[in-house]
Amino acid sequence: MSAAEKLGQIVESRLAGDPKKARGWLRAGWEAENVLFHIAPHKELAPADRYLQQLMMGTMLAPLRHPEGSAMVSIFVPCEMMQEVELVPYSAEAFSCYLSASFCEGACLERAEEEGISDTLCSYHRTFLGAAEAGLLRAPKCIVYTNVTCDANLLTFRKMAEFYQVPAFYLEVPMDVSEASVTYVERQMRELKAFLEKTTGKTISESALCERVARSKTSLETFRKVQQTKADRYVPTDLVTPFYSALTANLLLGTEEEQHYVEMALQDAQNAPAKRGKHIYWMHTIPFYSQAVKDRFLFTESAQIVGDELSQVCFSDFDPSNPYRAMAKRLVTNAMNGPSRRRIQKGIDNAADAKADGVIWFNHWGCKHTLGIAELGRQQFEAAGFPTLVIDGDGCDKSKEGEGQIATRIGAFLEMLDRKEATA
Ligand code: SF4
Repeated sequence: MSAAEKLGQIVESRLAGDPKKARGWLRAGWEAENVLFHIAPHKELAPADRYLQQLMMGTMLAPLRHPEGSAMVSIFVPCEMMQEVELVPYSAEAFSCYLSASFCEGACLERAEEEGISDTLCSYHRTFLGAAEAGLLRAPKCIVYTNVTCDANLLTFRKMAEFYQVPAFYLEVPMDVSEASVTYVERQMRELKAFLEKTTGKTISESALCERVARSKTSLETFRKVQQTKADRYVPTDLVTPFYSALTANLLLGTEEEQHYVEMALQDAQNAPAKRGKHIYWMHTIPFYSQAVKDRFLFTESAQIVGDELSQVCFSDFDPSNPYRAMAKRLVTNAMNGPSRRRIQKGIDNAADAKADGVIWFNHWGCKHTLGIAELGRQQFEAAGFPTLVIDGDGCDKSKEGEGQIATRIGAFLEMLDRKEATA
């Protein structure tokens, strides 16, 4: 049994009777992992990716260490103003992923079921709701959420605001991607500033916010360069790094740490040897625990996941001198907002930057947005010249069946890419 499995067993066994102890064990386990990431990082990981592991672990530990200094958010909420008032944002997807990696999502899912949450709801949200109801999470300072991109946000964060009795702010983003929508959201961004100032008693300085949003723009631009540089290089990777970069690109966008990460990643890409094996661009979440996916992509030279769409959903064409409008524009033009073709086209552009040999579209169970457009996505990627495989699974709930089909289908897909190259 691995240390993570042992931790999961301890946390799950204490959750029903003594949630405080369960929470203590969870924190102790994550603190220990954090120390390991600092003193004995994975040798095969590139330096930037080792730093990224530490960064994400610190972000996930924050709500356990100082819940009153944390903000619960939905993943695409612009977080710069929270950073300005020194709140650490954490999202449902990120926290649930870490619970799953610690083998304790099962008890949280059960708790959610007992609370009457339907299992048609995405497992990231069910795990998160179950964890909160069971006492694994303490009350945050506040909650900030948006309807971009999934309907699950509205249920989860409203329920959490009621459960914890903390102030919540809802950013309503129209699906119409237009200047009028940007103006509508800009007004809400200014209201969010007032909300955060009132909630924390701190003041947000306009000039500091402009500087922070300018840093966000630079980080987004630098990350695109990373992806373009990696296109012809071999950077060994695991299954969580592409997803970590998706989480930090949203939660930590605007921080010096995120900027440091993308600069390091650019350096790593520039210093990397020539490309080896197949480059796969991944659409949506990655089932990091799947042995079938590990066998094909975990530090393998024959194929690597070179990018995940969730780390590249934002455009950088905003003007930081008006930070409220800039953040509003980033949210309205998020690739996940508006017609599905926008999301697919952004994925195609990202895959082209990474010179992907193929694309895997992961149909995460319960994600209506992703499941509903999978066939359209496959057709558009194929039409753009990217062989595309659609697979079904669950990025968080390890009890879902499907390993057999994933192994067979990914194996056949990679063989097809090899044959395609041989006959080209
Ligand atoms: S996987 Fe889909 S349904 Fe679940 S949180 Fe993400 S966007 Fe929402």
